[in-house]
Amino acid sequence: MKEYKGIPVSTGIAAGTVFFAAAERSVCRTEKTEDTKKETRRLITALNKAAAELTELYRKTLREAGTSAADIFLIHKMMLQDSDFYSRMRTLITEDRLSAETAVGKAAEEFSRELAESGSEYIAERGADVSDVADRIIRILRGKTTAPAPVGTEKIILVANEITPSLTLMFSGLQLLGLVSGKGSATSHTAILARSLGIPAVIVNGVTFDSSVNGQTCIVDGVSGGVYFSPDSQKLKAVRSAEKSSAEKASAEKSSAEKSSEKERELFEILPPPETATQSGKKITLYANAGSLEDVDAAVRCGAEGIGLFRSEFSYLGRTVLPTEAELTAVYQAAAKKLGTRKFIIRTLDIGADKKAACIPMQNEPNPALGIRALRLCFANPQLFTTQLRAVLRAGVTGNVAVMFPMICSLSEIHRAKQFLKAAAADLKNENVPHAERIETGIMIETPAAAVISDVLAAEVDFFSIGTNDLTQYTLAVDRQNADIAEYCDPHHESVLRLIELTAKHAREHGIWCGICGELGADTSLTERFIKAGISELSAAPSALHALRKKIRSLP
Ligand code: PEP
Ligand code: MG
Repeated sequence: MKEYKGIPVSTGIAAGTVFFAAAERSVCRTEKTEDTKKETRRLITALNKAAAELTELYRKTLREAGTSAADIFLIHKMMLQDSDFYSRMRTLITEDRLSAETAVGKAAEEFSRELAESGSEYIAERGADVSDVADRIIRILRGKTTAPAPVGTEKIILVANEITPSLTLMFSGLQLLGLVSGKGSATSHTAILARSLGIPAVIVNGVTFDSSVNGQTCIVDGVSGGVYFSPDSQKLKAVRSAEKSSAEKASAEKSSAEKSSEKERELFEILPPPETATQSGKKITLYANAGSLEDVDAAVRCGAEGIGLFRSEFSYLGRTVLPTEAELTAVYQAAAKKLGTRKFIIRTLDIGADKKAACIPMQNEPNPALGIRALRLCFANPQLFTTQLRAVLRAGVTGNVAVMFPMICSLSEIHRAKQFLKAAAADLKNENVPHAERIETGIMIETPAAAVISDVLAAEVDFFSIGTNDLTQYTLAVDRQNADIAEYCDPHHESVLRLIELTAKHAREHGIWCGICGELGADTSLTERFIKAGISELSAAPSALHALRKKIRSLP
């Protein structure tokens, strides 16, 4: 048995057979050819096959994970069909007499290098996509299939030196049980994706995995951070029984929630969600975090009382063209319809820092997490902000919609954001476009500044939702994306907990509700402390709601 201790980033425990996802380029030798015509033909056939695979992957992802995730594969297809990329590969075959595999690897390397030197962080990041595309072409040239065939029909644990969201999505579905990545961070979008898929994930920084782990049995413990390759029978037995009892619990919950027949399931979905209260009757609202319509479905299935954080930026990521007001309205209205009378809190665009969207050009900043992010970006792009606010207000006629502004530091930012909201409503009224006249308006408390002056801010809004991921980052001066300093990114730090308590106290004093929508809200070891502080709402990944409900109901 070989074991590693890593950072648990998505809870649960699973045992399965390892599928090691190697970067194909890393095992690409320089091969020469005499028959350049044959190599060019091979390249063209592989490019066509890769395009067909990407179309299929796009459809699968659209079904399983929504538009924003699926769009990644549309971008990959555009890269694949890029004429410069093709001529570069062709020249390497015809002039340098390289094999098709070597030409693809070299062309991708050159492209990625040029992107890295572009001076734009967003463009540099596209180097990883070029590498993804090259891996795909090389794999096809080597005659390998795309499905996780090496482990047949077995349930897999995906192991890679860096698991990206696109890699995760490629394997998502029934076969994927857990993730082990050699690089990453707890609040990366891969980790958030793992949590929304409800699978355990552990990041073991500093370890380089190779194909020798392929086919081995592996246990991923998303609670302790343990990863065990070829575990002994005793360890495996313990995990199997933990898996069995959690599967039994899940199925018991499922059958009591969804009942057994389709008819009853439909009934369940229109019934109000279960209330959650402590033994003494203190009611805690349980909402879910979502980024897509599929997440909204999962939230309803898990008995969420609403969506406490809709990460609206997911509709912009992976797109080269901005979504129109009509498109955004359609998404928000579809979600509001699914939710019926349940609350639907749309967080306005939080682009910047680690989230860059191709459709929103941004400067290369030395400290993006401290730069043009969220509202700062919206204020600098009035049309962008207004378009989103109009869509939010229009969705307000379909359901119980609220709006939430992220990354607030000062009172003037709330005034400015509310001014935009007022102007958008006035325009809609003049144009006779149906919209909500009054919309519940809240802010995220995710900077120490906002927490400290939350007494002042509370007078201006209807609610607070504490974003503990960023609150931790900004309080402890630790970049949440930097895996090398992950040990300093401690959301349990007393300073963070006290800021939460202070915010909840100010909210209570001003008669507004205060919740938590950052990852810490799902940490059941803190639920009691949060409730004592006055937190009355928790919003977490749908898969975390069962444990939270159980914990709250057990509290005095
Ligand atoms: C947070 O910062 O805690 C939060 C919920 O927002 P995000 O993770 O999307 O930055
Ligand atoms: Mg945040």
